[in-house]
Amino acid sequence: LVAMTIEHVLHMAKGGGETSYAKNSWLQRRALLETTPLLDKAVREVYMALSHPTMTVCDLGCSSSENTLFFVSKVIEAVCCHRRELGASTKVELQFFLSDLPVNDFNHLFLSLKGFKESMAVGHEGDTLPPFYITGLPGSCYRRLFPDKSVHLFHSSYSLHWRSQFLDGLEGNPNEGNIYIAKNTPPYVVKLYQELFQKDFLLFLKLRYEELVYGGQMLLIFLGRKNEDAYSGELNLVYGLLAKSIQFLVEEGLVGKEKLDSFNLPIYGPSVDEVKMVVKQSELFDINKIELFEHNWDPYDYSKSDHVDDPLQSGMNVAKCLRAVMEPLFGRHFGESVLDALFDKYAHNVAEHLEREKTKYSIIVLSLKKG
Ligand code: SAH
Repeated sequence: LVAMTIEHVLHMAKGGGETSYAKNSWLQRRALLETTPLLDKAVREVYMALSHPTMTVCDLGCSSSENTLFFVSKVIEAVCCHRRELGASTKVELQFFLSDLPVNDFNHLFLSLKGFKESMAVGHEGDTLPPFYITGLPGSCYRRLFPDKSVHLFHSSYSLHWRSQFLDGLEGNPNEGNIYIAKNTPPYVVKLYQELFQKDFLLFLKLRYEELVYGGQMLLIFLGRKNEDAYSGELNLVYGLLAKSIQFLVEEGLVGKEKLDSFNLPIYGPSVDEVKMVVKQSELFDINKIELFEHNWDPYDYSKSDHVDDPLQSGMNVAKCLRAVMEPLFGRHFGESVLDALFDKYAHNVAEHLEREKTKYSIIVLSLKKG
């Protein structure tokens, strides 16, 4: 895999089957549930400032699960509610763009639209819902997607930790045995990750700034880390266990060692300060809010205790969830025939880890306004 190919190959597990992203995206749903109040606030402010009868909203990195339709429903409900408060005289129509890379399973999403519209109508009997239109938009969020000043609200959840390309210019596999930043990753490789994040995120901000109307807003939710030290991020642990599982396959002779050594995940989880720095550097947006929240690795574990009740079950839940995200990418690189063994081993490794220590994801939520 060479630089620049990500946007032509990356997608989550397609369709609606047992192992699909559509059936395994509860972790991501929980982030949407957590941030609904911030979304509500952003929609309200954008709606109040609307100088046009159409409000244009885009979900970037929408993927193919109902999460994106959940987002759409929350925007519609927020508009409905604020319109009622303000007296329903102000007419508004909503135009939604669901955007992702072109290989995303848009068809699966489109096929669920009929059911979605019906359930919206049934769920809101008596309310006059604003008319809404939903369309798909294939393209990378690291490229221009819209005309100048045409969008009121951008949303993106669990997507911006993905980089625009693989790490460039690595000679001789310096990150041997790892797939992300690990204890023995050379500092210059960490720096490459950080610089790529800064470059991508700055570009993202510039592009969206051009596309947003004045007063337009963005609600961005992505994986990050609590600690400033890039060597001790929460993702390092998650992907460290994944690397350990691939190492096992290498020892078993199922995967070539060079396959592992040459692979670096095109993902980076920044700290809150790193994110703030890029926003400041851009000189484009006011920060309404930036904060970090945590969720247990196991998407179905809601407990706040420091102890995992059923590590084996949690290990399997974590593995299923990660597999739905990584399967297409890993299948291409390591071979589809090893995926079952890989994620079985991973479930086992995660269980072992959770038995010793309960660990969490750190998620950054950033609300921005174009002044
Ligand atoms: N927002 C959804 C999906 C998250 S999965 C949810 O919360 O459930 C992450 C998605 O980001 C994937 O579908 C992936 O294809 C998409 N993605 C990654 N890089 C992207 C890019 N450069 N441009 C657009 N989408 C991207």
